[in-house]
Amino acid sequence: MLANRVGWGVSRAKATRSRSIRRRPVFPAPDHDHHRCSSDAMAMAEFLCAQRGQRLTPIRRKVLAVLLATHKPLGAYEIVERLAVKGPRPAPITAYRALEFLRENGLVHRIESRNAFVACVHNHSAAALVVFLICECCGAVGEASSEDVTATLTSAARAAGFTPKSPVIEVTGICAHCREG
Ligand SMILES: [Zn+2]
Ligand SMILES: [Zn+2]
Ligand SMILES: [Zn+2]
Repeated sequence: MLANRVGWGVSRAKATRSRSIRRRPVFPAPDHDHHRCSSDAMAMAEFLCAQRGQRLTPIRRKVLAVLLATHKPLGAYEIVERLAVKGPRPAPITAYRALEFLRENGLVHRIESRNAFVACVHNHSAAALVVFLICECCGAVGEASSEDVTATLTSAARAAGFTPKSPVIEVTGICAHCREG
């Protein structure tokens, strides 16, 4: 099982490099296999941590699992509440530190406009700038990465002698599934 998972991660990394990306949809269909979707993302997180020699400790894994259970962003308080349903309530600082670790390692993104967090679905390269598409109807967050946008923003920033630190683009609107429904 483990070998299988690691193998998947490796082939995925190769696929990303060669650009023949097995893209995940930006907004998974409402009837998608979410169990598979979240277990694939957890396997990817395990692979990335192992590759970097970092530990996905029980609390880090639990926080990530809570975020992977949904495609909607959750606030830190909400995360603690959901953890408390399944086991002992962690101290907020403990959950926060776990979130920081997950963010620093690109496993979780912060949605600034919602002051909330969403698990990364890994449909983009680590260096790519991610455009967060936030559906005002169902609350789901899609990650669309665009190398063109990254290049344009980087050159605009450079022209201004500016060094961007955390470029974040958040776009609100209506997702295709809500528009159709
Ligand atoms: Zn899903
Ligand atoms: Zn991401
Ligand atoms: Zn929607």
